[in-house]
Amino acid sequence: MSPLPARPEPRPGRDPGGRPAPRAGRDRGPGDLQLALLPPDESLVLSATRLDVWRSCRRRYLFQYVQRLPARTTEPLWIGRLVHRVLERLVALPPAERREEAALALLDRLWPEEADRRSAFPSPEREQAARQRARAMLAAWVRRERARLGPDSRLVGLELPLSLRLGDGLAFTGRIDRLEWREGGLELVDYKTGRPRSAPALRRDLQAVAYAWLVESVWGRPVERVTFWFLAVDRLVTFPVDREAASALPDRLRAEGRAIREERLYPARPGPACRWCDYLALCPEGQQAARRLASRQAGGSAGAAPSQAARSSDSGR
Ligand code: SF4
Repeated sequence: MSPLPARPEPRPGRDPGGRPAPRAGRDRGPGDLQLALLPPDESLVLSATRLDVWRSCRRRYLFQYVQRLPARTTEPLWIGRLVHRVLERLVALPPAERREEAALALLDRLWPEEADRRSAFPSPEREQAARQRARAMLAAWVRRERARLGPDSRLVGLELPLSLRLGDGLAFTGRIDRLEWREGGLELVDYKTGRPRSAPALRRDLQAVAYAWLVESVWGRPVERVTFWFLAVDRLVTFPVDREAASALPDRLRAEGRAIREERLYPARPGPACRWCDYLALCPEGQQAARRLASRQAGGSAGAAPSQAARSSDSGR
């Protein structure tokens, strides 16, 4: 096993064409990392969530990112946002203070402060049930965290907003929940508050590859593994980074960036996810699909669960 490195040195970012690094940003988290922030003049900034929406339905992309029509804050999104905020503060405490009582006290303090609470929950009962679920997630996190960090592992960064220029006014941005040094290499950890997914599905997920590539490009150190930490079921899914997919990523992102810029028609792609789409009222094709699905369900067949893109926003949570 390779030895633990000294505190990682912040490395200036470099785009894949060797052009100058993004501007250095503020320090954040116990890793004391300098973050690479984008200058505000990039004309198209991609993210994993934005690309998920683009791939799932271009009409929705039009509403959400071109026309910038407001989207609802859904209950899962609201909970995800809040739990991330609690964990961010909790992990900033010394390890001995990362206790369940501290987690629950933070939850109680931040709960009423979080924006859009009234619109996220249809009733006080739903809000109460969500609060109980959040408490259970945090209690499980505390137990798992205690066992996770040992002499051969440690946290090196938290809530890292990393961005990278791809040239031609195109950039990619993402927020890394957590970076650890473990078993002689870097491991990227992403917290999820939604339903768990299988390792093969996660391995294909753009976020896993893109975030590993982002850390490596900005920081200059390879990421060995990616872990998705499903808080609601206390399950961690870990797999090695797909190197082939990571090296092909910059070209793929540039091609998708070009396609986004050239799109003029924004065709609808109706499907089961239309039922959860914020823009259903504006989309005749989606309404038709939702009606078809409803009548099929009335006839007895179950509907599919919403896709990640259907449920999430740029928080990526
Ligand atoms: S309702 Fe369906 S087809 Fe229409 S924008 Fe939304 S996801 Fe796309």
